[in-house]
Amino acid sequence: MTALAESLLEVKACVRFCSVCFGITEDDPCHLCTTERDGTTICVVEEPQDILAMERSHAFKGRYHVLHGALSPLNGITPGDLKIAELMQRLENSAIREVLIATNFTVEGEATALYLTRLIKPLSIRVTRLAHGIPLGSDLEFIDAATVQRAVEGRSEL
Ligand SMILES: [Zn+2]
Repeated sequence: MTALAESLLEVKACVRFCSVCFGITEDDPCHLCTTERDGTTICVVEEPQDILAMERSHAFKGRYHVLHGALSPLNGITPGDLKIAELMQRLENSAIREVLIATNFTVEGEATALYLTRLIKPLSIRVTRLAHGIPLGSDLEFIDAATVQRAVEGRSEL
């Protein structure tokens, strides 16, 4: 086996999903779940790499939750396929006062934001959405840090 193939296997072996936020990590729970951060706010994203986009912006200091996708009835992706039950469990058991929904600005991302808002609002938790200014149809991970920062600062209540 080549050295490259060996090192790729090694990476695969030690990278897994955090059992709390479902981001990619080597240690479970991940450092974002265990280090000192604002425990009252949780940012919901579609994919693990979206956390990197948020972190690059330095505008968000809370915790994260990765859904691993977005609702897409046409493609057969329903709430049960996403980490939504796990999110609701986290909201029940903690001091979270705000959920910032940072799903992509696509039809699926918007549908997911709407669905989550309906679920979370009755819990008397503030639900906010990244401000527009992020181009419609775009994935968070490809947005530059300054734009993400403006979108976090200008977030609005749903
Ligand atoms: Zn985590």
